[in-house]
Amino acid sequence: MKFALVNGVKTEAQPGLKGICLYCEKDRDMIAKCGKVKIWHWAHKSNVSCDPWWENEREWHRAWKNRFPVEWQENRHVDSTTGEKHIADIKTAAGLVIEFQHSAIQPAEVQSREAFYKNMVWVIDGTRLKGDFPSFCKGFRELSPLKIMPGVFLSLSPNKCFPASWLNSSVPIYFDFQGVNPINQTDRLRDPLWCLFPGRAEGFAVVAGVPREDFIKFSAQNTHLLFAREMLSNISQVFREKGISASRGYPKVAPCR
Ligand SMILES: [Zn+2]
Repeated sequence: MKFALVNGVKTEAQPGLKGICLYCEKDRDMIAKCGKVKIWHWAHKSNVSCDPWWENEREWHRAWKNRFPVEWQENRHVDSTTGEKHIADIKTAAGLVIEFQHSAIQPAEVQSREAFYKNMVWVIDGTRLKGDFPSFCKGFRELSPLKIMPGVFLSLSPNKCFPASWLNSSVPIYFDFQGVNPINQTDRLRDPLWCLFPGRAEGFAVVAGVPREDFIKFSAQNTHLLFAREMLSNISQVFREKGISASRGYPKVAPCR
């Protein structure tokens, strides 16, 4: 983890420091690991079972976390009914949780985290597998731009753009194809985050390119879920009025294409 409690204060790892785990809280002496290879972090002395949802951090995680205020980073979220707790990568003052996911994850775990945090979004490292960005680019060519909303696209087969684990999520998923060391700066498709919205509009998956600055802004305003729901419902309404649905294929007249 980036932080541990030192004298009660959330503190970054520094050589020689000892701290208390933000998750376990008591009886767990954390050691500051400040080597040359891995990013500086806190680790337990022994292999105790800490937060089972915690993923080993990489530069990519850190770079994202650092774009938010320190008090929102590695923030504990407790279910007041069950007492279950986890450390969210980011939990804003308004209660929005952002999870940054590098490793592969099972759909069942995606579901359980969404059920636990409820008001959350995911940011996925789209550079982990070499094939993910080429797949997205190939799938992108089949997307149908929505004229009434520039930057928003319809998809009949989102599986051609995104990995299967993320297709049935209940919250917005943002794919980051840039990573920490941009592979090809000239590739404009890597510039925005690509959001797959939860649910479907008359059977169409809805995908949008979201500038990174806007993502940070939406996060601070806690408007991701509201925005996603309103957008899907507005698109659905227009489609119903015009008799557009996925079973009839991509619409060939306005409001699309
Ligand atoms: Zn711990």
